[in-house]
Amino acid sequence: MLTGIGTMLLTFVAMEGVAWLMHKYVLHGFLWFLHKSHHTHHHHAFEWNDLFFAYYGTLAMLFFIFGSDPIDYRFWIGAGITLYGLAYFLIHDVFIHRRIKVFGKTSNVYLKALNMAHKVHHKVQDKNGSESFGMLWVAPRYFRLAYEIVKKQEQEERGSVHY
Ligand SMILES: [Zn+2]
Ligand SMILES: [Zn+2]
Repeated sequence: MLTGIGTMLLTFVAMEGVAWLMHKYVLHGFLWFLHKSHHTHHHHAFEWNDLFFAYYGTLAMLFFIFGSDPIDYRFWIGAGITLYGLAYFLIHDVFIHRRIKVFGKTSNVYLKALNMAHKVHHKVQDKNGSESFGMLWVAPRYFRLAYEIVKKQEQEERGSVHY
């Protein structure tokens, strides 16, 4: 059980690397024709890019199927992929792009940094020239920026109390 959970957590961390590689070299590579839908402004509920959820979902399902009778390490890899998919969906689709409007503004430095890094990725609407391909791992410079913004906000809020 413990090794299982360890395998699951390792898979979760590894998935960030997989997602980064996929995003940088495949989505902004030969599968750009699908990913392009995510770099274009539109008013549709779904994008071609959403197919990647089906891809990772199928992958996780296969790991579950082959690793569940009896339960072995493949089951836990499937669980890790599923967990990462869930985190990715919540952060990327719900929190950053607000496809479902449940989260308000945040003063959490990590979430702010993550949001900024991804918005920078979207600044470029082209196949080439983007940066910040990861999701949960954020470059330190965004942390510094986010920290400064949050600190400023706090100072302003404190200042307004006196009136
Ligand atoms: Zn992209
Ligand atoms: Zn995005």
